[in-house]
Amino acid sequence: MQHDKLFIPGPVEVSPKTWAAFSRPMIGHRGEPFKKLYAGIHPRLQELFGTTQPVFLSTSSAWGVMEAAIRNVVRERVLCCMCGAFSDKWLDVARRCGKEAAPLQVEWGKHIEPAALDAQLSSGRFDTVTLIHNETSTGVMNPLRAICEVVRRYPDVVLIVDTVSSFSAVSIMMDELGIDVLITGSQKALALPPGLALFSASDKAFARAAENNDRGYYFDFLEFKRQQEGNMTPSTPSVAHIHALESKLDDIFTEGLEQRHARHVWTNAMVHDWVRSRGFDFFAEEGYASVTLTCVANSRGIDVPKLVGDMRERHHIVIDGGYGKLKGQTFRLSNMGDETEETVSHLLACLDDCLGTA
Ligand SMILES: *Cc1c(COP(=O)(O)O)cnc(C)c1O
Repeated sequence: MQHDKLFIPGPVEVSPKTWAAFSRPMIGHRGEPFKKLYAGIHPRLQELFGTTQPVFLSTSSAWGVMEAAIRNVVRERVLCCMCGAFSDKWLDVARRCGKEAAPLQVEWGKHIEPAALDAQLSSGRFDTVTLIHNETSTGVMNPLRAICEVVRRYPDVVLIVDTVSSFSAVSIMMDELGIDVLITGSQKALALPPGLALFSASDKAFARAAENNDRGYYFDFLEFKRQQEGNMTPSTPSVAHIHALESKLDDIFTEGLEQRHARHVWTNAMVHDWVRSRGFDFFAEEGYASVTLTCVANSRGIDVPKLVGDMRERHHIVIDGGYGKLKGQTFRLSNMGDETEETVSHLLACLDDCLGTA
């Protein structure tokens, strides 16, 4: 059956192999087959996270765990690093959870400057920092290592990092970097269907959670930890997602992590070459462009909604016409998940066809 293939930066295309795993016969979540499933994937999850800490599976979208992180680890005051739609939203979420939240805001398209973060943290006012590694709305990849180095100078500060659109596409070593809560979702860089989130937490994060009395139940980090020790989840999980995740981990480790990272660099470079040679600009400032998606600045003043429509009608390809206030001023092309040199070449050829370029 012909379907519209997603090249939007999430959800992305899900492979037939993944769908086959997703629709395996159901198993009970308290029985041995489930415990074997979780125990079987756990070491590979730890390797991907770069951690010896437990890795948890939450049946929610990423925002569920993002909100959970606020409720579990923030004492009083959280500093939110904000550089686009997703990172800006943290401030609102933290406030809705009753926390005092302050913005470290930069203009969309710019990155979070480690020195600016240092200056804020040196005030001693903040007990937690939120960061989005790869800001999906603007195509900016923040300098994670340098930012983590800054936060490590403040041993009482907990660092929460969202890697929804970069996890597994680039190396993110949680323990080495000193990340306290690392969060990702299923439908972007992992190319699984939406509806599952994965996360891990440091001992510092668990200690914070233990101080916090209003963690609730569904998203209680300590409940996740207790249940994971028995290879289970606190409540009935989306077992179908976990079957699909097992299949995806097979794919990832068969390809090899280095090869997977190199593939994203390569397919992203193909998109970048296309952007330059067709006379467009990048929305992300130079040196900080994401390797999993490209936010193209509409410097040629093309009719973006028409391009999006033509791509779908003529080629059954879905691209994104710009997020929120960037609608029409940008369009976004994803190379996350399973995309290859061949599929990205096809995407670019179809764009040329619709734009009358090449
Ligand atoms: C998509 C996205 C989210 C939100 O994920 P949901 O699955 O919709 O909750 C959060 N952060 C980033 C960086 C994203 O790209």
